[in-house]
Amino acid sequence: METDVLILGGLSGITAGISAKRHFPDKKVTLVRKEGTVLVPCGIPYIYGTVGGPHNNVVPDGLLENNGIEFVKGEVVSIDREKKEAVLKDGNMISYDKLVFATGSNPMVPPIPGVDKKNVYPVKKDFDYLDDVLEEMGNVKDVVIIGGGFIGVEFADECRKGRDVNVTVVEALPNCLQMALDDEFCAEAQEKLKEAGVNLMLKSRVESIEGEDVVTGVKLAGGEVLKADMVILGIGAVPNTELAKSCGLELGFKNAIKVDHYMRSYTDQDVFACGDCAEKHSFFTGRPSGVMLASVATSEARIAGANLYSAVHEHVGTVSVFSTMTNGRAFAVAGMTERTAKENGMNLVITNAQAPDTHPGGMPDSSITKVKLIFAKETGVILGGSISGGRPVGEMINVISACIMHRMTADDIVKFQMGTHPALTSSPIGYPIVNAACKASLPIRQG
Ligand SMILES: Cc1cc2nc3c(=O)[nH]c(=O)nc-3n(C[C@H](O)[C@H](O)[C@H](O)COP(=O)(O)OP(=O)(O)OC[C@H]3O[C@@H](n4cnc5c(N)ncnc54)[C@H](O)[C@@H]3O)c2cc1C
Repeated sequence: METDVLILGGLSGITAGISAKRHFPDKKVTLVRKEGTVLVPCGIPYIYGTVGGPHNNVVPDGLLENNGIEFVKGEVVSIDREKKEAVLKDGNMISYDKLVFATGSNPMVPPIPGVDKKNVYPVKKDFDYLDDVLEEMGNVKDVVIIGGGFIGVEFADECRKGRDVNVTVVEALPNCLQMALDDEFCAEAQEKLKEAGVNLMLKSRVESIEGEDVVTGVKLAGGEVLKADMVILGIGAVPNTELAKSCGLELGFKNAIKVDHYMRSYTDQDVFACGDCAEKHSFFTGRPSGVMLASVATSEARIAGANLYSAVHEHVGTVSVFSTMTNGRAFAVAGMTERTAKENGMNLVITNAQAPDTHPGGMPDSSITKVKLIFAKETGVILGGSISGGRPVGEMINVISACIMHRMTADDIVKFQMGTHPALTSSPIGYPIVNAACKASLPIRQG
């Protein structure tokens, strides 16, 4: 088989394909993916509670057909870059002109003794595997989740929904979500988790996973053994780049594929990469970054797809915008937290503002929104924002991300003209993003 553009992958692969077809409609674009059905990766924890199963958490394949993208179900096992040929596991071969790696990441499996016992599950993005985990969850009583990052916390929250199971999160750091949120937001999220009946073991390291063939417990470094008949590993992911390495592409930070601002590989002008398998650099410092997010992956994919035959878009680096929901309360961060800004040695002006997300606050389903903004003291440029609150937080954090990407100052944000409505937003008098910027304006000017 022949194609102009060959894409390997799922979520960012689909996005790169749509972008390629949009920019180069005459080119034949083919996507190869291992799975017939691709899951919404960010929706995986919700399979175990809110959405009720993997079948309610899939990316519609109509996206490929509607955009004129050919789909081949299969696994590419080798690539000859000289001949521009990819060989599939079933022996079929596809020749290409441009190749896009969107091979994603695999869950990290720590070298803990006993990690290979039955009922110990890394979070794989695989429909049948996750369906088996769901079925098994109906038979267990004590679930231990190793890792209190956003994946572990979302799993903990969801496992408790409609199920009489004991759920414990074991986290090595002093707080859950500490890699993502500042301390006060971690504390708030932890309160919500405890309200949902989740047990937290903080500052706790797992020494081993106990049991004969099947897990029976999780032993902590202090000697305590937590009862467990299921363990979920939520400790992060590593780029899936074995194939890239085997065809000679240069790898960088955390073995991700080295790419330039156009998402073109360092090694080969005709090979691009995007998503979790591609190396990231911080928007702020330019240093390599380990952030792996769907929002970043799809942004890179749009850029890669557009740049295949001419340089259209340039990647500006990873801002890192993230949101999560814990027992009905949303937490979100764009850019730097106070912790990461201080670690980078920056002089800061930090302000907070809060308001109900309706006006008056007595409207149905109103929540208090808490906003924290972080500005560089010398320039007044916004470096980051954190928010907790109700559903509007999911979009408010995107407003802050736009402010960061455009290097807006506190004074710029003071002049922001927001649309407001009693049932939909905070009051125009108390709009918390603007109010937090107003509070920062004077100390920034005073230096
Ligand atoms: C539980 C969970 C929750 C998450 N929640 C969020 C969230 O709320 N927000 C957020 O921004 N991010 C979230 N993420 C992160 C997000 O899912 C990833 O950043 C995103 O999936 C990366 O997309 P990708 O296309 O790079 O890779 P992937 O989604 O990993 O897709 C890679 C695809 O490539 C295929 N593939 C690999 N090798 C081959 C090959 N040789 N041949 C053919 N096909 C191949 C795979 O089978 C797979 O379909 C979450 C991740 C997990 C695991």
